[in-house]
Amino acid sequence: MNFCSQCGARLAFRVPPGDNLPRYVCDACGVVHYLNPKLVVGSVPEFEGRILLCRRAIEPRRGFWTIPAGFMENGETLQQGAAREAREEALVEVQIGSLLSVVHVLQAHQVHVFFRATLPEPQYGAGHETLEAELVRPEDIPWPELAFPSTEFSLRRYLEDRAAGRERHHFISVDRRLA
Ligand code: ZN
Repeated sequence: MNFCSQCGARLAFRVPPGDNLPRYVCDACGVVHYLNPKLVVGSVPEFEGRILLCRRAIEPRRGFWTIPAGFMENGETLQQGAAREAREEALVEVQIGSLLSVVHVLQAHQVHVFFRATLPEPQYGAGHETLEAELVRPEDIPWPELAFPSTEFSLRRYLEDRAAGRERHHFISVDRRLA
């Protein structure tokens, strides 16, 4: 961040009075620009034992497989955001279920939150950020071709819990190199 979004002046990076971390500070208008983590929300949609995966049409990780997920918008709940992402990426209306996983991607300043979800019927398509969508059996999941560690973590925990007949939630922190 170089310039103030309020007044256009050049910003300084220093610890403001009464604070304990360096911030982008505008000496012209006095605004302090706080940078906080972004939320990514998504789901693992299932239909009769198969999982809905999407192949990414956009960078990063174009061509790799993921579960429907994306940046949360203002004015929506986590569950609404997860449902919206499934609608946008795979053209489906999912039923969002229980909390599955929280992945802290510390160096990327992101928190990824995934829910279990169900598809009412096996109909889906490819939104504009998706090359193709597919319902895959757990044994056919292309593990080496998954887009992100948070995708793999969430899918593995989902399948473990499902096999054990439970719905727990799981937390992990990962590095930017892996995310
Ligand atoms: Zn300013």
